[in-house]
Amino acid sequence: MNMNTIYLDYNASTPVAPEAFEVMKPFLTEFYFNPNAMYEQANLPARAIRDARETLAAFLGGVLPDELIFTGSATESNNTAIFGCMLAKPKRRHIITTAVEHPSVLNVCKEAERRGCEVDYIGVDSQGGILMDEYIKALRPDTLLVTIMHANNETGVIFPIDELARIAKETNPDILFHTDATQTVGKLPVDLTANFRDIDMLSLSGHKLYAPKGVGALYVRKGTACRPYIYGGHQERGRRAGTQNVCHITALAKACEIAQQDDHSAVRALRDKMEHELIERIPHVLVNGGGQPRLHNTLNLACEYIEGEGILYQLNEYGICASSGSACTSGSLDPSHVLTAMGIPFTAMHGSVRFSLGRYTTEAEVDKLIEVFPEIVKNLRKLSPYWDDKTDSPHKGGLIGQHDE
Ligand code: PMP
Repeated sequence: MNMNTIYLDYNASTPVAPEAFEVMKPFLTEFYFNPNAMYEQANLPARAIRDARETLAAFLGGVLPDELIFTGSATESNNTAIFGCMLAKPKRRHIITTAVEHPSVLNVCKEAERRGCEVDYIGVDSQGGILMDEYIKALRPDTLLVTIMHANNETGVIFPIDELARIAKETNPDILFHTDATQTVGKLPVDLTANFRDIDMLSLSGHKLYAPKGVGALYVRKGTACRPYIYGGHQERGRRAGTQNVCHITALAKACEIAQQDDHSAVRALRDKMEHELIERIPHVLVNGGGQPRLHNTLNLACEYIEGEGILYQLNEYGICASSGSACTSGSLDPSHVLTAMGIPFTAMHGSVRFSLGRYTTEAEVDKLIEVFPEIVKNLRKLSPYWDDKTDSPHKGGLIGQHDE
């Protein structure tokens, strides 16, 4: 990593762990053989995939290795889960999700609507917690699928998916439950044979847990009706065609192995220090999702009366990488759909910035952020039409601008 970079965007992606990089290298050069070939040389990559599947199965609480499908990303896993169920049970046409899912679920649900499904998007409260009553009311005997994320990538808010899955099954055991656990696998214990045993399908992604980008997995519990999404050869027992990405799959397994040694309490302490100090030093800030159980590495801070884009630009001058909303949507100036669903006021929503820490974050990096960030906010407020420079407080009587959302 560049010496000047302070990377505080681990929810967007993580560096590949050196241990994971080491295991994948020989499969790019020495053992490049197609793992599905018939000659002896192919045995080694084939075995590497088998071993990786077993490692991942153990990591997820001792599921059956054959319940795992390697994919190219969590996006593909999510597409496979949702479209796969629709294809398997075309007569059931009702899906439940939430308004705060990642686009790789939300946009698939929109497409499902175009293909004749009815979708309920469950709302959240001002802290990002799921509206339980709305969820319970939405469940129907003819519901095909519930797809609800484990933790939100923008706010870090954790949904009680074990409880949500149990309630769905109590309504009708035929309802399938999928969770996008992209932000939690590697950060929280995910045990599909213990507390998560009502979950039928689970998506994960390599590059959120120190494996490379472009590899993911989908867990599909034995007996779950889910058709393939990609057709072609017989790889992954006919459930996901395409020659497996052997080196990335081996790196993913190694990354899962070493994730078990992560010191989450150290990351939490750094995040808490950052949160505490920034709240102390900057007036008019709010922690988005602060009232709900949250991932230990995430801080989504609303700095009222300024623009997130301006903050990111200024942070970048110091080499600090953070994010406003998810990396997938931050290319646009549209406000975050997650913060919109939470009903965050306009002036706070636009000044929201996400810091996400990880294994390699140091206290010196956090201290640097604490040192420069209050000044950045102060300077941006001087330029803000919502801020009165003379009194160093928001303009009385509300906004100078026309927005009132
Ligand atoms: N779901 C969530 C919650 C995510 O945070 C992301 C990545 N931003 C994805 C899905 C998509 O993962 P991938 O990049 O592997 O497609």
